[in-house]
Amino acid sequence: MSSAATWPIFMAKLKSRQEVAEGTMAFHFEKPAGWTFKAGQFIDITLLEPSETDTEGNTRGFSIASAPHEETIMVATRMRDTAFKRVLKILPLDTTVKIEGPFGNLTLHNNAARPAVLLAGGIGITPFRSILFRAAKEKLPHRIFLFYSNRRPEDAPFLGSLQQLENENPNYKLIATMTGMENSHQPWHGETGLINGELLARYLQNAVLPIYYIAGPASMVKGLHTMLNDAGVDDDDIRTEEFVGY
Ligand SMILES: Cc1cc2nc3c(=O)[nH]c(=O)nc-3n(C[C@H](O)[C@H](O)[C@H](O)COP(=O)(O)OP(=O)(O)OC[C@H]3O[C@@H](n4cnc5c(N)ncnc54)[C@H](O)[C@@H]3O)c2cc1C
Repeated sequence: MSSAATWPIFMAKLKSRQEVAEGTMAFHFEKPAGWTFKAGQFIDITLLEPSETDTEGNTRGFSIASAPHEETIMVATRMRDTAFKRVLKILPLDTTVKIEGPFGNLTLHNNAARPAVLLAGGIGITPFRSILFRAAKEKLPHRIFLFYSNRRPEDAPFLGSLQQLENENPNYKLIATMTGMENSHQPWHGETGLINGELLARYLQNAVLPIYYIAGPASMVKGLHTMLNDAGVDDDDIRTEEFVGY
């Protein structure tokens, strides 16, 4: 038997929070000196002595949305009406939480000859934001296609900065698509409709042997996984992260 867990556990203070889409907030925590993670990994955050709790407890897993070179540990979440999120939403700045991790292996493959195709629905963008900002910072040679589906631009976390990032990384292409523009008050000139085989084929004509990454609520991950299989993609070339609990 191996001994007890060896991953880091530390206390971190909440430094700031902001809305990054309608009903969606980002939280920035202090990053301890010497603590590192790989872009795409996640952490467990535990609220200490919260003012309320429920049967799901005081811990949730969150992908780290910030890149390793950025100053804080940033997570982003849909602010649903659960005890954990009600507390997090109004947690006074400088409150301490417990963080465990990093965990997970939804990290960019090494072989830059193979393009990366990232498929994100809504909040599933979090690990990909980290991967994309890291790739831009380190000038990685990988071609990266991000297919990013939301109901409306209002619902799409980090949309503006992900669009701007195309100017910094010529190997990166964003294909954002909206599935509910009839309820939007913003203009949209991009793609509409679900991510499907036809949309992928249109943008991936010259992408040889891509590796696909899918992240988000479990139902979305399963749906996109099946879509890829139906389009002939082998499971060996598909990596997924399911956000259980949605
Ligand atoms: C690796 C990983 C990364 C994640 N990254 C993010 C992220 O970046 N952003 C984000 O918003 N969320 C992320 N999540 C999901 C997150 O941990 C929460 O589950 C989610 O935000 C819902 O929390 P909640 O408080 O709104 O609902 P909860 O109170 O957690 O639960 C909502 C519903 O889900 C059910 N449920 C809870 N846990 C489970 C479970 N383990 N299996 C099956 N059903 C369950 C509950 O019974 C309830 O019906 C991630 C999860 C994982 C595992």
